[in-house]
Amino acid sequence: VLDLGQPEHSVVTTCAYCGVGCSFKAEMRGEEVARMVPYKDGGANEGHSCVKGRFAFGYATHKERVLTPMIREKITDAWQVVSWDEAIDYAAKRLKETQAKYGKDSIGGITSSRTTNEEVYAVQRMVRAAFNTNNIDTCARVCHSPTGYGLKQTFGESAGTQDFKSVDKTDVILLVGANPTDAHPVFGSRMKKRLREGAKLIVVDPRRIELVRSPHVEAAYHLQLQPSTNVAIMNAIGHVIATENLIDRKFVKRRCEPTDFFRWEEFIKRPENSPEALEPITGVPAEQVREAARLYATGGNAAIYYGLGVTEHSQGSTMVMAMANIAMATGNIGREGVGVNPLRGQNNVQGSCDMGSFPHELPGYRHVSVPETRAVFEKEWNVKLAAEPGLRIPNMFDAASDGSFMGLFIQGEDIAQSDPNTHHVEHALSSMDIVIVQDLFLNETAAFAHVFLPGTSFLEKDGTFTNAERRINRVRKVMREKQGMPEWEVVSRIATAMGHPMRYNNAAEIMDEIARLTPTFEGVSFDRIDELGSIQWPCNEEHPTGTPVMHTEEFTRGKGRFMLTGFVPTAERSNRNFPLILTTGRILAHYNVGAQTRRTDNVAWHPEDILEIHSSDAELRGIKTGMKVSLASRVGATTLTAKISDRMPPGVVYTTFHHPVTGANVITTDNSDWATNCPEYKVTAVQVTVSNHP
Ligand code: SF4
Repeated sequence: VLDLGQPEHSVVTTCAYCGVGCSFKAEMRGEEVARMVPYKDGGANEGHSCVKGRFAFGYATHKERVLTPMIREKITDAWQVVSWDEAIDYAAKRLKETQAKYGKDSIGGITSSRTTNEEVYAVQRMVRAAFNTNNIDTCARVCHSPTGYGLKQTFGESAGTQDFKSVDKTDVILLVGANPTDAHPVFGSRMKKRLREGAKLIVVDPRRIELVRSPHVEAAYHLQLQPSTNVAIMNAIGHVIATENLIDRKFVKRRCEPTDFFRWEEFIKRPENSPEALEPITGVPAEQVREAARLYATGGNAAIYYGLGVTEHSQGSTMVMAMANIAMATGNIGREGVGVNPLRGQNNVQGSCDMGSFPHELPGYRHVSVPETRAVFEKEWNVKLAAEPGLRIPNMFDAASDGSFMGLFIQGEDIAQSDPNTHHVEHALSSMDIVIVQDLFLNETAAFAHVFLPGTSFLEKDGTFTNAERRINRVRKVMREKQGMPEWEVVSRIATAMGHPMRYNNAAEIMDEIARLTPTFEGVSFDRIDELGSIQWPCNEEHPTGTPVMHTEEFTRGKGRFMLTGFVPTAERSNRNFPLILTTGRILAHYNVGAQTRRTDNVAWHPEDILEIHSSDAELRGIKTGMKVSLASRVGATTLTAKISDRMPPGVVYTTFHHPVTGANVITTDNSDWATNCPEYKVTAVQVTVSNHP
């Protein structure tokens, strides 16, 4: 941390890291950040912060940052430093050449959940209007796409239902597949405070996370299920609620589709969904499930909070719907203290999805096949838009391998490190004619790029991020762009060079366009956010100051819809060769693939990824803490340092994925969520042996 003495001025902006979206006052001396001070009027954090937001901003000035555009004809050539004009013209020319050779739909783009809403919006407009294809996807594909699908099916809106403050009124917290202490520290602290005040906690997680037992907090129940059995356990909870007459029938009658409810009730009551029948699958004692279900249904205001331990499974979408089902069945939705709430990993996951980054949806989650929706954008952009949904990220990789998808624009996302089955991704990228990377660093993906467009850090951006509670926060420019141009302008100029005139004078104009075209953002503008501090969408005539709690009178889709959620075991099975199951998570000091935090002092606290292994599994293999071990799956192998830990049950091992050297995604498989293709990062059959490598 720099100590530059008294600040000369300060700027209020938003943290670059997790989906809590804390506000900070960046205290400046000249062009240097002296301190990041948590902002007491920040709607999401109210003056609190964590070690990432407060201290880990040094990556913005890290010596490895690339500040000049670069091009090369082949990925084996050396990079050539060029001007912005040359880079933009070169990118546009090669994209057009690729389309001329392989067809209009042979190129596409990927947006980032680390860039602003305005930057994401600009990329999706470039892809849809200048490339004239719907081959646009977002890195949320690999994290919360099942949230989008599941909540849209049941409630009609792809978003969390509550504001963070709502937890202060919660009596029972059902925490599923999330570790807020490490991954969402400021909200984790708020949750802990509520638990210390007496709220009860049910944790559903294969790992004994800190909240299960820590000073002053102890979970009432830890349902320590086998990885991949989420849906089974949620169905068992639903079964208890339905068979023990714990359903809030008044709520269901008033607020939900009757036919779907009765169908669900008949399904969930079946004996195969009972905790006793599912105990051999989940590994959780039936009586424990029964007691936890009773607590959720009868303990007062009950709220569900969940993370990637829910979504990154082959039944991720099913699980989101299973949780929505029990919330509706018990009337725990539509008021403070209850709800179904995804804890988003990156700061702008919600925003990148809202901005039309999915191949089937225009901004505001409106399907591309609807002529009236397309007409709104066609009029504004003066183009004819494609009506067919485009390719999702995994489909892009598959199509690259068969030669039909040959050009990709990647905004702020290191897909070669973050996406599953790294070898497959690398093969796809190296098969393409043109790969354009817009990023701060020459990341793993840039090794396959022909054009590198330097990006801006959050300190150089002007725009908005939308956090996990749909709160649109301002990101204010703290310093000038170090590489000389806003990212949305680079994108606009490529679109223009390709023949689609796209001109904005500033980020506020982009938000004005979003608001004009997107009903949920109707009342949003930079001026309005500045006036109110932040705004939780929907913000429109009906809700002029935003909406902290959704679905209060009726669901976005009208009546809530119960969905059938049959449990289907994952295709990933352990066997004699791969007898253990690997699951992954995060650590407090780091953020995602570590591209930012590894370039700060935080790296000293956690310099490498560690493999946690239960003592019985370690003993069987002659493994001791500190030893190097080989971790191998059906698709690849890596080497890590072992740590004996009883946080995991026997048969399950755990690691983080913050360091490219150990690259846990080298071993993750191609299995994915049936509805959204979100990768099944959380379940990989592996073998662990003492490594021969030092
Ligand atoms: Fe940033 Fe999240 Fe920490 Fe807040 S909790 S300071 S948003 S990393």
